[in-house]
Amino acid sequence: MSTIKGKIKKVVSYAQKKYQKVFYGSCAVLLYHRVTQSQTDPQQLSVTPANFNAHLEHLKNNYHLLTIKEFQYYLENKKKFPKKSVLITFDDGYADNYLEALPILEKHTAQALFYIATGTLNTDVEFWWDAIERIVLLSDHKTEEEKYVLNGVEYNLSGLDNTKRFELYEQLLPALRVMNSSLREEKINELGRIFNSSQGRASHRAMSFEELKKMDLSNAAVIGAHTHLHPSLGALTYEEQLKEIETSKNILEQHLNKKITHFSYPFGTIKDFNADTLDIMKKMNFQLVAANIPYLVHKNTDQYSFTRFLVRDWNSGEFEKQMQSFF
Ligand SMILES: [Zn+2]
Repeated sequence: MSTIKGKIKKVVSYAQKKYQKVFYGSCAVLLYHRVTQSQTDPQQLSVTPANFNAHLEHLKNNYHLLTIKEFQYYLENKKKFPKKSVLITFDDGYADNYLEALPILEKHTAQALFYIATGTLNTDVEFWWDAIERIVLLSDHKTEEEKYVLNGVEYNLSGLDNTKRFELYEQLLPALRVMNSSLREEKINELGRIFNSSQGRASHRAMSFEELKKMDLSNAAVIGAHTHLHPSLGALTYEEQLKEIETSKNILEQHLNKKITHFSYPFGTIKDFNADTLDIMKKMNFQLVAANIPYLVHKNTDQYSFTRFLVRDWNSGEFEKQMQSFF
């Protein structure tokens, strides 16, 4: 692309964004995963309780925090969002969402939408990306095995030092992400045996059913689904997707005794869902579905893939700057 064309494109996209903000109003939907003090956090998914509290304070004083119902009303009815609207969401269903995040939300009379992957609820089994971290990065077991085979690709296990372990971790995550869930489970169990690390960490557990029920009773929480075993849906067949989505919806509905109408796509980038996923969302009567793409939401945003900004462990100054950059 020539420089002039590039410049024109930039100006047009800037003008479009401005136009949307002024005439449609817009909402920044924030995506959190964990609120906890993490010892290790290679995916940078944890925000400390102190920083989360500072985020809420800043949002309360400077932005218009929406309830889930308000957000849904503006989006479904294609109404202009109030100025500087913000919605808070959480993905996955870690126990710290109940133990740490919920009391802080309640203290600030704020509300968040919690999307729960049901496969690890009420167990000591870790989410699969955490299991890979524990097995490959944290186990100091010197394995006798020379190789590990995944999807026909051989990974060399001999002479694993810290650098090589990190390389292996970085290679396994994307390969496991696009596998069907039962095969992924089998391959992770095999890796756990090789590295003699099979026990999930209590610090990384998902909520218990009891915690989930209590969370659902709070005004600070609305519960949505996030599949059963957290695959990249776009890599699965229609039937595999349907099973993942239906199972999570059914488990949540049984335990909470209410209809679940919210969903977020695991990983949530444009590659992580497809036309089949959208078809299933509509057939299963989901009303609002979240993606993980960093744009503002406005009244013409598709309610089956609304966009969100991933939040990192920013202190109050950094959070303030990031919030400004979103709008
Ligand atoms: Zn997730």
